[in-house]
Amino acid sequence: MADERPTRLRDYGLQSERLLWPTKGPSRFEQEMGAEELERALGLTTLEKAVRWAQTKSMWPDTFGLACCAIEMMSIVSARYDIARFGMEAFRSSPRQADLLIVSGRVAHKMAEPLRQIYDQMLEPKWVIAMGVCASSGGMFNNYTILQGVDRIVPVDIYIPFCPPRPEALMEGIIRLHEAHQAGVPPAYERVGVAT
Ligand code: SF4
Repeated sequence: MADERPTRLRDYGLQSERLLWPTKGPSRFEQEMGAEELERALGLTTLEKAVRWAQTKSMWPDTFGLACCAIEMMSIVSARYDIARFGMEAFRSSPRQADLLIVSGRVAHKMAEPLRQIYDQMLEPKWVIAMGVCASSGGMFNNYTILQGVDRIVPVDIYIPFCPPRPEALMEGIIRLHEAHQAGVPPAYERVGVAT
């Protein structure tokens, strides 16, 4: 299969006259290092990329726990897992100051409305992680009290399997979310919409 990675700095959104000139080929730097390495080595970037990078360094989770999974979630602020290295240790008590909702545990139908209200009160851009099998699909609670997947009421960006997921699995999900956002993947509410 052909390598489809961008080869020119202009493919990354950089728009100098030299780069956009139709008859100019790749510069010597681009030829020798490749656009990706050059961009990284020189610290070149676009405003959109810089903003996305900054957003991943201050993605504040809402203080919200539902069941046993919440205990695993709480432990990510401890020294052992140290979520502070991503600037994320400030779990916010107001949804208006949070941009990440970690749904950690089974969602009872009775809890669905408050959860949706919290999500609606968060400012955009915002993201949702479904932590554990219960939040993702209802898990082993296939009964009339439990919502069979939180994605029925809010759009989910990342699903984390297991019962319970270990803090490492949650960290992995958070890192994947950061990578997706830095790569320009829009939040789930833009891709799949919000249930009405
Ligand atoms: S996935 Fe397991 S640990 Fe998490 S809420 Fe469900 S039963 Fe509890």
